[in-house]
Amino acid sequence: MIVKIGIIGAGIGGCAAAYYLHQKLPDSEIYIFDKLDRVGGRLYHRQIESITNELGATFFHTVNKNIMKLVTEFNLPVNEYVYPRFGIWNGSEIIFTSSRNSLVTNLKLLFRYRLTALKLNGLIKTAKKRVLELYQPNQPIYTNLKDLFTVGNINEWIGTPFDKLLRSMGISQKFVDEIIEPSTRMIYAQNAGIGSFAGLATLISSDGTPLYKLKEGNSTLAVHLAKKSNAQVKLSTDIQEIKELNGKFTLNYNKSLDDFDAIILAAPLEQAKLTLNFDIPSFEMRFYQRTYFKLISGKANPSYFGKTNVDEIPELLMTQNVSSVPFTVLENLGQLTQGNFLYNLVSTNPITDELVKELFQEIKQEEDHFWEFSYPVSKAIDDYQPIKLYKNFYYINAIESTASTMEASILGAKTVTDLLVHENQS
Ligand SMILES: Cc1cc2nc3c(=O)[nH]c(=O)nc-3n(C[C@H](O)[C@H](O)[C@H](O)COP(=O)(O)OP(=O)(O)OC[C@H]3O[C@@H](n4cnc5c(N)ncnc54)[C@H](O)[C@@H]3O)c2cc1C
Repeated sequence: MIVKIGIIGAGIGGCAAAYYLHQKLPDSEIYIFDKLDRVGGRLYHRQIESITNELGATFFHTVNKNIMKLVTEFNLPVNEYVYPRFGIWNGSEIIFTSSRNSLVTNLKLLFRYRLTALKLNGLIKTAKKRVLELYQPNQPIYTNLKDLFTVGNINEWIGTPFDKLLRSMGISQKFVDEIIEPSTRMIYAQNAGIGSFAGLATLISSDGTPLYKLKEGNSTLAVHLAKKSNAQVKLSTDIQEIKELNGKFTLNYNKSLDDFDAIILAAPLEQAKLTLNFDIPSFEMRFYQRTYFKLISGKANPSYFGKTNVDEIPELLMTQNVSSVPFTVLENLGQLTQGNFLYNLVSTNPITDELVKELFQEIKQEEDHFWEFSYPVSKAIDDYQPIKLYKNFYYINAIESTASTMEASILGAKTVTDLLVHENQS
């Protein structure tokens, strides 16, 4: 019988697993371990004056049914994430600027990209409909991701590069280069050749229905899940080794040994770097995208963008995939009390002082954040990492190869905990 379960990783996936396990196995003893000194993993915000800036996962969509359900259950206050006025920077000019009025933006898109803009709406509608099939009641127990994603025929997307899918749907190359790719660079810091499921998640998030973020920071959802699970949360605890003997897993932490009946890995295996004394199936390891963030209070330099006034720079500047563009996103997050603005500058390379000096005419304060494992380098795949690595050893973050989102990790947690409970009942 499963009595004591160890979960490695206190991100949204690990905390959701603890929550679902507590519901399904209320008598079990659950431990969550994280090497960081906080709960949330890639959910992390900084509060600067009245601005809550998410440095990791920023928003969720109403199509994310698991998140929506949990947020309602816990009565967590939300803010609408309003897409700022955006522009596309190609290294020498801002080639497209949206309007604050969505109707005007749609007309501008229609004018520049003709029928492509309409075809895209059709694709987004189909994508949403197929994704929602994942939430139909009475889903079976899944032992692998391929079976899970036969629902809605999502496997087809996972196995197709996004740019190829778009072109096959009649979306013009100009639209892919000028609008789609800057969006995938913003959401995943990667180009439009990512897997189509990840790409469609990006498109769905710009379908015009509201996006949300939690008022007190998205990590509060992970904190609530951990609390409601009654789990013992062990922070600043790096699990480096798991030993299995006679069906028990031994973890070595805080200078002592502790035995568990089951383990759930709720972190990318590539990041966790575990030493195991037992064999797990062999599969392809993923590369992870690194992202560098710089929060800057000050004023952007309009002349860098060929403008004379700060107001002429759109609040959200996305970028084309051009070698002369040394950043993926520059976002103006709002005005601070001293009259300066707070900016988020994002790049896949370290952000140099020279770049900051070029981009800003006034700099009051700077703060850096670095994600070594922000998202897997996404590509079309037909081979999934397994969600079960050994008897009573399960793996949530296999699901990240399909799309790396909060909802995906929660779906992974649900799938894995259903499997664990099922296998230990029968
Ligand atoms: C910049 C950025 C923007 C994003 N934007 C969005 C967005 O807008 N919307 C969205 O839905 N998603 C977004 N995402 C993706 C989303 O944040 C992740 O997919 C999700 O949070 C992953 O959660 P997780 O619990 O699976 O993994 P993580 O949050 O990474 O949690 C894993 C935890 O395991 C810990 N860990 C790893 N190895 C060990 C070990 N050996 N011992 C102990 N602890 C260990 C880590 O410290 C970490 O805390 C974004 C991600 C980033 C980086």
